[in-house]
Amino acid sequence: MKGDLRVLGIESTAHTFSAALVSEKKGLICDVRDIYTPPEGSGIHPAEASIHHTTVATKVVREAIDTSGLSWADVDAVAYAMGPGLGPCLRVGAVTARTLALSLGKPLVPVNHAVGHIELGCLLTGATSPLVLLISGGHTMVVSYSSGMWRVLGETLDLTLGQLLDQLGRYAGWASPCGRRVEEAASRSHRYLRLPYTVKGNDVSFSGILTAAKRLTDAGEPFDDVCFSVQETAFATTVEVTERALAFTGNKELMVVGGVAANKRLSEMLSTMVARHSTKFYAVPLRYSGDCGAQIAWTGLLAYRSGVSIAVGDSVVRQSWRLDTVPLPWRNDA
Ligand code: AMP
Ligand code: MG
Repeated sequence: MKGDLRVLGIESTAHTFSAALVSEKKGLICDVRDIYTPPEGSGIHPAEASIHHTTVATKVVREAIDTSGLSWADVDAVAYAMGPGLGPCLRVGAVTARTLALSLGKPLVPVNHAVGHIELGCLLTGATSPLVLLISGGHTMVVSYSSGMWRVLGETLDLTLGQLLDQLGRYAGWASPCGRRVEEAASRSHRYLRLPYTVKGNDVSFSGILTAAKRLTDAGEPFDDVCFSVQETAFATTVEVTERALAFTGNKELMVVGGVAANKRLSEMLSTMVARHSTKFYAVPLRYSGDCGAQIAWTGLLAYRSGVSIAVGDSVVRQSWRLDTVPLPWRNDA
């Protein structure tokens, strides 16, 4: 392999269609996105989102190449998010990546989206082998690296944190994603309304919180107070299972990644907790907390450098592809 590998990555697992370029020497070169927004009060409709992705794909990829200062000939491999995600959306990214790989005569590299969040987080924060809290629209998991894979030490049994906040916001008539608006509403309140707090073993459950929050809203409680109470309750359960995992592993690094990592109140609660364990806290920079091509391009580079690629004919998409089944040949066992 040549001195400075450069990889183009395509992300399309849910609402975001994004293309990014990374290089072994420079790290992240550019990341271009176009995000599908559903109508007010609605969640992501997979077919509608895939039509959005199809419409913007060429423009986004071209803009990525144009802003990178590179030419097509500089691209050594094309990485795509193989899963997990929404089937129709994943297929648009896969078709785009296959087309590019075939026309450029370059290898195609499959990437697990969740692994992508973690590897990009490590690149951008400098964490090396952290305990990871992955909190997004698709995931709520505490994971730790051991013997070649990320191992799950706690996860949600039903809704993810992102789904909880999005479904709460949609109940008030907002369009997904609603996390930022829920955070703004919560910041205007300090009145706690009692909600179910559910930790089972080291797993969390959020569906009871959502049902109770909807009932409180229907009963006329101010929505700001409902948002505040949902955040306090759901974040406290998340911090509790993260702290238990930290005590168990003794890890000296905690990194939080995924779209919900943008939430300031959660960061504050996590920072307070890690201070009790002499552990360093890393939060992925705001711009890269949510879905983006950079997570696919960077993980694609790590994977390709370790010999991972896939024949175009085998490059299916995997709507369900658990993080703890993905081999990580680029991570050496300690
Ligand atoms: P991802 O799936 O990684 O793109 O993350 C998207 C999720 O992050 C959605 O569920 C958003 O509502 C959520 N999100 C984005 N910003 C915030 C925020 N400031 N606070 C809480 N959740 C957020
Ligand atoms: Mg994500």
